[in-house]
Amino acid sequence: MKKSAVLLIYTGGTIGMIKDPETDRLKAIDFELIYDHVPELKRFETEITCISTDEPIDSSEMLPSNWVDLSELIKEHYSTYDGFVILHGSDTMAYTASALSFLIQGTQKPIILTGSQLPIGTIRTDGRENLITAIEIASAKDKFNRSIVQEVAVYFEYSLYRGNRCSKISANQFEAFQSPNFPQLAVAGVNIAYNNEYLHRSSLQNPIFSNKLHSKIGLFKIYPGIPMESYKELFNIERLSAIVIETFGSGNAPANKTFQECLKKYIGEGGIVVNITQCNSGFVQQSAYATSAFLKKIGVISGRDLTTEAAVTKLMYLFDNLENKKEIIQLLKIDLCGEMTMIKNKE
Ligand code: ASP
Repeated sequence: MKKSAVLLIYTGGTIGMIKDPETDRLKAIDFELIYDHVPELKRFETEITCISTDEPIDSSEMLPSNWVDLSELIKEHYSTYDGFVILHGSDTMAYTASALSFLIQGTQKPIILTGSQLPIGTIRTDGRENLITAIEIASAKDKFNRSIVQEVAVYFEYSLYRGNRCSKISANQFEAFQSPNFPQLAVAGVNIAYNNEYLHRSSLQNPIFSNKLHSKIGLFKIYPGIPMESYKELFNIERLSAIVIETFGSGNAPANKTFQECLKKYIGEGGIVVNITQCNSGFVQQSAYATSAFLKKIGVISGRDLTTEAAVTKLMYLFDNLENKKEIIQLLKIDLCGEMTMIKNKE
């Protein structure tokens, strides 16, 4: 079998940093020196090519335009490599992974994001293991020489998660990600155990790359006693084309008159509202309680078990890639690339 080739793309984040002894602050390493920090890379069977984005950034600075750039970069190199590893800050990694899953639909090659909680230059870094295993996953093939993973995924602390199903759940633990509504795609122990049943397979022959994302998407989290008067301005169709609302439990919201009026007016003017839950796991079921029946009645769309990251980026994708509102609503209700669980008779 031919040697696998993996493109390693450094975008920034803790993994590529080192402590500056003079200032005691973290600064980006020269990525060319990655082999000095992780000499194991030289021993890989896989051919690894490293590139860095022009200006590596802390992932808090990520913008939809950076996601589009990454998708374009992968498109450019898609036929040359067997897999891709993106080194990325962990803070917004789940957003980038979700966005890429929509921008690159039907990939037959692994696109693995990883990073670390401790810089690669520190003794106890988690970055070395994350990087090495991510490369191994990105180059793994089955007996027919097809990539085992054919989707955008996040590898962190011995677990591989579907990119549009996971979220960062800890600021301090090495186990920084979780995917409560979807099983891990693989667990790395002595061997990497793939959860074959859950690996995504697309019906597309070739990937479809998109280079458009709409930025006028809002996110609104309710809480008991929310002073809705202060938030009224948010529900403005000129400023936001769609709003994700994070509600309680299985999609419930208080019978706050101003809140209901804001939603009604906004939807009436053509805005789209998607309801997702603030809970870590489980899904929205509008009308299970009286406190959510109103939302369904006025046309709020159930986001079922979408993560916040997937809900926001799915809307960004749909708004700039589809012709009309009817189509957007249709696609919001179905699973496009593994982001949502479809359960019969549950809206
Ligand atoms: N602030 C960093 C970032 O997200 C944290 C990390 O890399 O884990 O870029």
